[in-house]
Amino acid sequence: MLLDRDGTLVEDVPFNGDPEKVRPLPGVRAALDRLRAAGLRLGVVTNQSGVARGLFSGSQMAAVHARVEQLLGPFGTWRVCPHEDADGCGCRKPAPGLVWAAAADLGTVPARCVVVGDIGRDVVAAAAAGAAGVLVPTAVTRAEEVAAAAWTAVDLPAAVEEILRRQAAVTPAAVAPWPVSGGGRGTVVVVRADSVGDVLVTGPAVRAVAAGADRVVLVCGPRGRAAADLLPGVDEVIEHPLPWIDPVPAPVDPAEMRGLVGRLAAVGADEAVIFTSFHQSPLPMALLLRMAGVPRVAAISDDYPGSLLDVRHRVPPGVPEPERALSLAAAAGYGLPADEEPTLHLRPEAVPPSPVGPPGYVVLHPGSSVPSRACPPEVAVGIGRALVDAGHRVVVTGTPAERELTAAVAGAGGVDLGGRTGLAELAGVIADAAAVVVGNTGPAHLAAAVGTPVVSLFAPTVPFGQWAPYRVPTVRLGDPTAACRDTRAATCPVPGHPCLAGIQPADVVAALRLLGVTPDRAAAGVAVTATGGSAR
Ligand SMILES: [Zn+2]
Repeated sequence: MLLDRDGTLVEDVPFNGDPEKVRPLPGVRAALDRLRAAGLRLGVVTNQSGVARGLFSGSQMAAVHARVEQLLGPFGTWRVCPHEDADGCGCRKPAPGLVWAAAADLGTVPARCVVVGDIGRDVVAAAAAGAAGVLVPTAVTRAEEVAAAAWTAVDLPAAVEEILRRQAAVTPAAVAPWPVSGGGRGTVVVVRADSVGDVLVTGPAVRAVAAGADRVVLVCGPRGRAAADLLPGVDEVIEHPLPWIDPVPAPVDPAEMRGLVGRLAAVGADEAVIFTSFHQSPLPMALLLRMAGVPRVAAISDDYPGSLLDVRHRVPPGVPEPERALSLAAAAGYGLPADEEPTLHLRPEAVPPSPVGPPGYVVLHPGSSVPSRACPPEVAVGIGRALVDAGHRVVVTGTPAERELTAAVAGAGGVDLGGRTGLAELAGVIADAAAVVVGNTGPAHLAAAVGTPVVSLFAPTVPFGQWAPYRVPTVRLGDPTAACRDTRAATCPVPGHPCLAGIQPADVVAALRLLGVTPDRAAAGVAVTATGGSAR
């Protein structure tokens, strides 16, 4: 847990160099002691430009920090940026330097940290480091900062309550012994229909199940199949359209449903865990699994499940999709091994080498499977030109249907791979990139799964807190207050698509700088080293 100082732990007294003026905010001491009791390590990350401005001395600041510890208890590290914005340092929030340094001080990585602060700079720094960030707004917090935040709480005690709740939710429940043959928990069917991104964000939960099961069979739909083939822990994939999930569903065909029940029965599963988004029902699949003879079924369901579910799990809104899925796995008794990061991963052997090189280029993926989540083509073209002009080596990716778009976007000097990569090849291209510029679509989650930082051109049609690239360095762009917010619209309902049309190409260049991605075209251009990738 990394905490901002002024306005989060203590009252914000501008440029305070006087220990007598340190006033803890209400409930903070007790909240910090809860964290300490739960075994969490604590650090402080704070901008103190008063040092650079000569408004107080280093020793005065040390006296203030000693007073904070006297009142609030010890912290494992203090990381302070003494600079001003004009210094262009890498530590002044929203830059992520303090978060990286404090995480290292505490013997961990940002992906395992939560940062709590009272202004946008705090949570932007958290995301840019790949940590979770909680905004605890005060009277000075701007409304746009609140709207852009992935996670907000009314104050630090409330943030701590939710942090501990989410941690407990992914801790495996003790489940009653289940009679299966063999040493593990037998064969488990996991279900995640829908698209590539949905399957990828379920990856950590699938790995948790795999850690406890003898064998994992993943049921997916045609649109998620390519991602299913990349997930670690999956022994077999069953692909079948599910008409109650697909956005453009075919009529229910009884013969096909009977066929699916037959395939499920042939698995001989001991158990099933059905993963869904909050607006999807697991119950039709639960019924088919029962008809296939699966004795134990777990799912998240607000709807009454009758005898369809043995484990009926509930999740409050706002939880990131990977954690939502992990909490269902935990309710069914499955957890990730303690030494495994809760981040997205791919099977390394399934990812081919990038056909372009050398590494360090910027991938620009302008399209989206959902139109409302792609920025207008002219904006994408402008971003491509700005990246090239700034000296970045640019690789443009897209599906075969997006070839016209990728050609236009690459026109300013990027390499056009539009239509030339399947999902696995795209993962290889992204893995060698310094960063990816992409909307809220499958390749953003692919980037998270290969650890490549993301400039997220995020349409607010769905909550950022649930669908942001998970625990990978990310900068969010786009208007979080646009009228399409939380509409789930597949096609933008607002004339002019303002949430993404307002993105300035210079903002993308600045976002890359915040992520530590600097232009390197002078070093080498991008060369196509192989014709890899399919032309599907
Ligand atoms: Zn600094």
